[in-house]
Parts: sequence; C-alpha cells; structure tokens
Amino acid sequence: MTKLLPTSTAGSLPKPSWLAEPEKLWSPWLLEGEDLAEGKKDALRLSLADQAQAGIDIVSDGEQTRQHFVTTFIEHLDGVDFEQRETVRIRDRYDASVPTVVGAVSRKQPVFVADAAYLRSQTSQPIKWALPGPMTMIDTLYDAHYKSREKLAWEFATILNQEAKELEAAGVDIIQFDEPAFNVFFDEVNDWGVAALERAFEGLTCDVAVHICYGYGIKANTDWKATLGHEWRQYERTFPKLQASGVDIVSLECHNSHVPVDLIELLRGKRVMVGAIDVASAQVETPEEVAATLRSALPFVDADLLYPSTNCGMAPLPRSVARGKLAALAAGAEIVRQELAG
Ligand SMILES: [Zn+2]
Repeated sequence: MTKLLPTSTAGSLPKPSWLAEPEKLWSPWLLEGEDLAEGKKDALRLSLADQAQAGIDIVSDGEQTRQHFVTTFIEHLDGVDFEQRETVRIRDRYDASVPTVVGAVSRKQPVFVADAAYLRSQTSQPIKWALPGPMTMIDTLYDAHYKSREKLAWEFATILNQEAKELEAAGVDIIQFDEPAFNVFFDEVNDWGVAALERAFEGLTCDVAVHICYGYGIKANTDWKATLGHEWRQYERTFPKLQASGVDIVSLECHNSHVPVDLIELLRGKRVMVGAIDVASAQVETPEEVAATLRSALPFVDADLLYPSTNCGMAPLPRSVARGKLAALAAGAEIVRQELAG
C-alpha cells in the first residue's frame, strides 16, 4: 500500500438477518441449496459495499460465506468425523463438544477459493482473506488418530498451504491466519507453533498476516479476560518469535484492552495491524478515540508500517453498530493521516 495508514478489519462482519440468525456465533443458515449459495454471494456484496462506503482500504468478504472461522474450513476436510463428538477444553477456557480426527486429514477440494475469486471480481481494492491457523484448528478437535498436537498441526499446515497458494492465485493480496491459540499455549507457540504457521505460508509471494487476539465478546472470553489482571502481557511471550519469523503483518488487539501498547516494540520491523475498535462492546467509538489509539502505537511502530484495524471480528454485533465502527475506524485513521502529513 502506498497510502499511509491503510484500514482493514481483523475478520468477520455481521450477516444479514435473512441469511443467518443475527448477533450469534455459529448461527445456522436460514437458506438452503441454491438459495443459500445465492444468498451468500448477495451478503458478500453487501458486506463489501459497507466497507467501501465506510472508506475501508483493504477489504474482505466479511466472512459471509462461512458459519465459523475454524469449523467451516475443517468441515471441508477428510479425516474428521463431525458425528463422533467429544467434549474438550478449548483454549484452556471453556468446554465444547467437538468433532473427532479419525484418520489422516486431507483437503479433497479447495474450500474458499471460489469465494475469494468472486470477491476479487467485485472490487479493485486490495483484498484480505482469513484462514484459521494450524494451532487454533487443532484446539477445536479431539484427536483420536495422530495423538500428537504437533503432528496434527503440521498436517493442517500442509493443507492450509495448498489452500493459501490457490487463494493467492485467485488474486488475494493478503492472507491472514487467525491464531487466537497463540495467546494461550506459549510454550507450544515457541516450540513448534510459529514453525507450523511458517509451513502454512511457505512459498507464498503475497503478504501474510497473523491475527492474535483475546477473542470475540462472548461470555467465555470476557470471563477469561477478567482473570488476566490489570496488564495483559500475553503478547510478550510470542512476539519475539513472530518478529524473527517470515510473517509480514501482525494483527493485535489494542483499544479498550489492558494490553500495554509498548509491547508492539517487540515486533519492530513488521507491519502491525493495530486494533482500534473494540468488538466486545456495542458502543461505537468516536473517530477521536480511534485516533488516540493509533497515536499511542506510533512510538512503537513506524507510521508506514501501521495498519489501523479492529480488535477482532464483528460477527456477533448488530449490523448498524458494525457499520458505525467501520466509519469511525476510517475517520480516525484519516485524522492521524492528516497529522502525519502536516
Ligand atoms: Zn480475533
């Protein structure tokens, strides 16, 4: 990007109420068959229009074609049985009934490539596409086959690499891997998590982002956040390894969180997507609040490497709130852009 402070979102946007029940994660589809396929495309174009109207520079599909950022990808793979469920603890935080890995995992066909090509056909702006990261994928499954988190992560990384290369060929400018698990399993991140992530983007020439965060504003996450104390220093455990990795962009949560902003210094040299929009609150930020968050990051990231963004996905928020937050993000970035130009 030649434009200073290019804006983007970290992930999902709310779906229209005719496509899926609003303000809900894992919301079931309200359409079927051809109607569903058509409805997803319509929603993608609406989401794109919302982003364009708000003045967002790097646009996405708003994850309109997927039910969940991890599960939808896994549903398309062989080796995972969605009928055979086990209860496991996800991100060391909450118990959930999850599918079982019953055999060798593989990708029988492209998962999001047609959706990405459709997004590409609808806009000339730079586009970003999100995929789950290997460690976050293994953390939402019961593994009865490999019986090794590292081995399963490596297998998923290989599959993600196949998908990522096809997304790149479809015209995606930035591929983002979502790794909220990087904020929980610090030893594993440093032992093999970052290596598995690098395997997932091996050979790509487009930009690669990794998104780490404290999660959507769901109860399990807000309860967990309440236990983290006044200063959230989790990023401190993983940023040095990411700084030394081949990742181009790191996306993190800043606004309304207890993350000490100087931790961004640990990423010096990388581009940083600074989360300046709180996704756990329906209160729409003012442009000045967004600008203040961006300014607070500027001592720790060079201006030409700062990418204003949201803390995480906005899927569970009302659509009008999400639209307001997109507009605030763009307006806040513009304030700081003017200051830097002056
Ligand atoms: Zn997130």
